[in-house]
Amino acid sequence: MGKRVIIAGGGAAGLTAAVFAARQGAEVTVLEGMERPGKKLLLTGNGRCNLTNLDVALSGKYYGSGAAVARKLTEQFGASEVLSFFEELGLLTTEKNGYVYPYSLQSGAVLGALLSEIRRLRVKLKLGEKVESIQQEEERWKVKTASWCYTADALVLACGGKAVPSTGSDGSGYALARMLGHSVTVPRPALVPLECNGRMYERLSGVRCRAAVSLYRAISEKNKNEVQKEAVLLKKDIGELQWTKYGVSGIVIFQLSRFVSTASHPQQMYLEVDLLPDFEKAYLVAFLERRAALFSKERTVALLSGLLHEKLIPVLLKNAEIPEKLSCGEVDAVQIERLVVQAKKLRLSLAGTKSFDVCQVCAGGVDCREVSDKTLESKKWNNLFFAGELLDVDGPCGGYNLQWAWTSGYVAGMSAGKEKKEEKGTI
Ligand SMILES: Cc1cc2nc3c(=O)[nH]c(=O)nc-3n(C[C@H](O)[C@H](O)[C@H](O)COP(=O)(O)OP(=O)(O)OC[C@H]3O[C@@H](n4cnc5c(N)ncnc54)[C@H](O)[C@@H]3O)c2cc1C
Repeated sequence: MGKRVIIAGGGAAGLTAAVFAARQGAEVTVLEGMERPGKKLLLTGNGRCNLTNLDVALSGKYYGSGAAVARKLTEQFGASEVLSFFEELGLLTTEKNGYVYPYSLQSGAVLGALLSEIRRLRVKLKLGEKVESIQQEEERWKVKTASWCYTADALVLACGGKAVPSTGSDGSGYALARMLGHSVTVPRPALVPLECNGRMYERLSGVRCRAAVSLYRAISEKNKNEVQKEAVLLKKDIGELQWTKYGVSGIVIFQLSRFVSTASHPQQMYLEVDLLPDFEKAYLVAFLERRAALFSKERTVALLSGLLHEKLIPVLLKNAEIPEKLSCGEVDAVQIERLVVQAKKLRLSLAGTKSFDVCQVCAGGVDCREVSDKTLESKKWNNLFFAGELLDVDGPCGGYNLQWAWTSGYVAGMSAGKEKKEEKGTI
């Protein structure tokens, strides 16, 4: 009989771990708390599943205590290995700007490929079996659910984080890890919309536009000193910005959001939005001066109409203190300069982030200093492994988080499935 391996969690990381442990000859059982496996995987990429990214700098894009581990392991099992793995399972892919999707653009195709391989390898998939407690007795794991106590030689915890708990990853994996004495960095929502202070958002809700967005930490008056007089730029990104009734969302915001959720005082942060990132300030000033002369008899909204979404224009005019009822001919050079500053440096005051219910990934999780950077085995327990979002690793939008699920699933599965007599510490 092969080595018995239990995988807790039938998501992207757990199913991948199951495949590789079984390919090592292990007898594998996946315990999944929900009635169906891979619920979150089905939601990914708006149902299209952005499964990895061809970015050459992929391995350097991770955050958390596991950033270095993720760098090292994704250099071994990165995007090209993922593509080969899925091709071997019969899944063809397509790519746009480096973002990789299944050719059918259906996340179900990715889950289907994994489940076929699980069946082919005779992995037991037990559904509705939420792991409630774990203990080790005489070097064997006793894994309890509400209805059964399973035993195994090796255990992989792949229970995910707590992003969108309705998919099954409800944070119970953190409790199991703590039960075994592991430290958990407080999870926070990352890749998440941001809430802003102010009254303009209700009016702007539904507007989408291209923008460059910078996240700053303000310098409070009492901390101002000779060296640090200006706000600190923490991160900048460019892409589609979505306005909502509570603030802002969209990929450009998601890419900045982990820095807000992990900050001790997010209220001291603000966003600066460049709504016309493709034009220099001086060009826009001259352009609007020409427009003001051309449309001298028209109301001031004519200055920006056609350039920006119509709902944004009254907001910018108000901020620039230009009455809408004035005609363009009555606007002076100082007001035009102010309007351009508003369009290029629109400041949004932050209230915080939205909740776990709407985030795509968690920052925080099992402290990676307590796991081997070669095998993802616990440094506290023999034959306990971790994989996926449960670990303190998070990446930006664009396929990086699923890449981590595949990479860590591969490493943990290979390591857990290995026979005891083989040398440990390598995969
Ligand atoms: C809306 C949305 C869109 C996303 N889009 C993308 C994308 O396009 N590209 C990308 O790279 N990333 C994307 N992500 C992130 C990505 O889905 C996750 O990082 C990834 O699924 C994590 O995989 P995992 O296996 O670690 O965890 P999960 O996928 O969360 O799987 C964990 C599994 O464990 C089960 N479980 C939990 N606790 C227990 C327990 N105690 N006992 C038994 N089972 C348990 C859960 O039910 C779940 O099935 C998206 C996330 C969301 C929410």
